[in-house]
Amino acid sequence: MQQYFIEGNLKDKLSFTLDDEIYHHLYHVLRSNNDTLFRIVDNGGSLFLCRLDGKRGIIVKELEEKRELPIEVTVILSLIKNERFDFCLQKLTELGIKRIIPYQAKRSIIKIKDEESKLRRYRKICKEAAEQSLRTFIPDIPEIIDLSKISQYKSTFNYLAYEKNDSNYIHYQKLHGSLTYVIGPEGGFEEDEAMTFIKNGFEAVSLGRRILRAETAALYVMANIGGVFEG
Ligand code: SAH
Repeated sequence: MQQYFIEGNLKDKLSFTLDDEIYHHLYHVLRSNNDTLFRIVDNGGSLFLCRLDGKRGIIVKELEEKRELPIEVTVILSLIKNERFDFCLQKLTELGIKRIIPYQAKRSIIKIKDEESKLRRYRKICKEAAEQSLRTFIPDIPEIIDLSKISQYKSTFNYLAYEKNDSNYIHYQKLHGSLTYVIGPEGGFEEDEAMTFIKNGFEAVSLGRRILRAETAALYVMANIGGVFEG
């Protein structure tokens, strides 16, 4: 069943007017008829089963579903080539990430010129992925950061995925509360950059014996978390 996020709040409402984008998608893309059922998540994160009625959505009932992970995960994700970065945004959203912080790493090939338009694009990818995966939360992408802001995004547990470390691993079973992990760009971290993370309380960890591409590394951590907390 199709799901959409809307800006407004539907608490105590019986129906609402569909915004143009949802209207277009339901009638012209999906070719839905009147009475088609769909899902709406409002700005309070509440989920409603709705029925299509012309230009309106009739609220059938509120749904109680648990789709979110019991641990809040933030990734500080180095900017990598556009299509690979977009791929990460989509897949990390499907896997239940809470927050994605694009990071201008020292070796990032991509340099962002227009931050606002990039962020808009990133957020759109996450919104669509959240709709598709029936989440009730769209991952937050507050800003693009550099090394000076990393400590703002720390959690209960903080890890730096660093392939030069080969003996320390994430103990997934022990995690609780929140977690931040950092993934480097295609060329890896510069040594002093890695040291800055470590000095700021990020623990260097290995993601196994093979060197993974940045996007594989980013997904590996989230998939493991899913396996431990939901498997
Ligand atoms: N240093 C390499 C590889 C970079 S891989 C090179 O120069 O090509 C991109 C990123 O993925 C790394 O910065 C790291 O964050 C993560 N990564 C990949 N494989 C890893 C592993 N085995 N252990 C920890 N992190 C890994």
